[in-house]
Amino acid sequence: MPLCPPLIRHLNTPDLFVTIDRLPCLGTPVSDRTFEIFNPSTGELLAELPDMGAEETRAAIGKAHVAQPEWAALTARERSDILWRWHQLIVDHADDLAAILTAEMGKPLAEAKSEVSHAAAYLQWYAEEANRIYGETISAPSTDRRMLVIKQPIGVVGTITPWNFPASMVARKISPALAAGCTIVLKPAEQTPLVAGAMFALADKAGFPEGVVNLVFASEGDAVGRELCSNPKVRKISFTGSTEVGRLLMRQCSDQIKKLSLELGGNAPFIVFDDADIDAAVDGAIQAKFRNAGQTCVSANRLYVQASVHDRFVDEFVEKVRRLSVGDGFDPAVAIGPLIDRHALAKIESHIADAVAKGGAVRCGGNRIGKEGTLFQPTVLTDISCEMAVAREETFGPLAPIIHFEDADRIVHEANDTIYGLAAYFYASNLKRVWRVAEALEYGMVGINTGRMSSEAAPFGGIKQSGIGREGSRHGLEDYLEMKYLCMGGL
Ligand code: NAP
Repeated sequence: MPLCPPLIRHLNTPDLFVTIDRLPCLGTPVSDRTFEIFNPSTGELLAELPDMGAEETRAAIGKAHVAQPEWAALTARERSDILWRWHQLIVDHADDLAAILTAEMGKPLAEAKSEVSHAAAYLQWYAEEANRIYGETISAPSTDRRMLVIKQPIGVVGTITPWNFPASMVARKISPALAAGCTIVLKPAEQTPLVAGAMFALADKAGFPEGVVNLVFASEGDAVGRELCSNPKVRKISFTGSTEVGRLLMRQCSDQIKKLSLELGGNAPFIVFDDADIDAAVDGAIQAKFRNAGQTCVSANRLYVQASVHDRFVDEFVEKVRRLSVGDGFDPAVAIGPLIDRHALAKIESHIADAVAKGGAVRCGGNRIGKEGTLFQPTVLTDISCEMAVAREETFGPLAPIIHFEDADRIVHEANDTIYGLAAYFYASNLKRVWRVAEALEYGMVGINTGRMSSEAAPFGGIKQSGIGREGSRHGLEDYLEMKYLCMGGL
């Protein structure tokens, strides 16, 4: 049995999910190797899953390749209907999916529920968008020709997802691919395969034809990744994760000039100008920094606050951060769950040590909670300068470094001084400043007077080394379509 009692006791319909190691979309493991999944809050064993590799991935790609022409040949409405059924099943089982997510990833149950509803929203959006794939006609330069463009699905797509949003990343990637007429093979992150497995159990119930959705569980990404990148039947890779692995996949895809969508790391600036609504900026910073314990690619990584409002902002912010409770995500009073693992703890500690050694001050937090586990106090640092590691690297944890600035024009230049270009935030009220700053920030997404901007209706993605392509909105569908130009002569 893959799911253990500590997880089963949280579920309303355990029977639906206990067989996720034997799903039709999973394929047959070639060995009896397994890997274990633990609750990062309690250390309890949650499940044991088959550990798959290149051979199982090749088999899954083969099934996806056989199924793809028939899936693409369905009408858009038929594909849409199946996506709708999957959406409804996810809504019906949202509480169970959220409980699985909290158990394996640690985030507070309320955040897990919100993530599952975000995942369902992607399925709903792309069930609708499936019906809105348009081509174009072009005015021909001569009267004996007609010129037009049709859009066709790319083919088989290999998808790899991270642990920090293990439900919504699955939906955000594969729902546009399926709507476009592609078939998919998905490998979820080693730490969080269970919610993906549960979503695929519901996909099997929704009635996708055999081979359209395929799942590979693996304790290590590299063998699966190499097969996805090198197998010529896979026409595109869609990856969310670190910039380092994104670079590697790009290299591995280069031999076949394989298409790629990459959603990678960030180093988001959060700028508070002197004309901002400070109360709103404090609330926005709490959201943008501490949601998911700071483990989001769009987390505010460095906070810049203008001199005349700096002290007031810091006082209000620190007071609110001190009130954030940390603990087991199943406790309804908890706002911040555990970090995913001990590497994450070590990274925060190294960022704090580096900042303090170079003159930074700890205003609250700064320590682990307990000797076991991965709980860390939400932490605020001041007197930060831009050469400290905390201002240059993605921390991926509940650590907010605050940088004091005087010159409003120079600060945008400083905010842009990074290899990353995913998300940026700023608070200001002067309309001229709002436009000037929004246009000058070199990021794929800019939150203006808000700390939260993800939506299925909007194009999510980065520039520079934060990625290629967009997910969500009508643009997310385009990433799974090829353009074909048709020229009819002799007319
Ligand atoms: P990661 O180490 O890059 O892992 C992400 C996924 O890639 C996992 O499924 C992992 O599998 C797999 N993987 C690892 N090495 C691989 C390889 N050599 N070949 C193929 N696949 C491989 O990233 P993470 O630590 O899980 O996630 C955090 C990072 O993701 C952060 O940098 C964050 O900013 C970024 N992120 C970006 C977005 C976005 O939309 N831009 C969203 C969320 C997260 P295993 O777990 O099995 O190793």
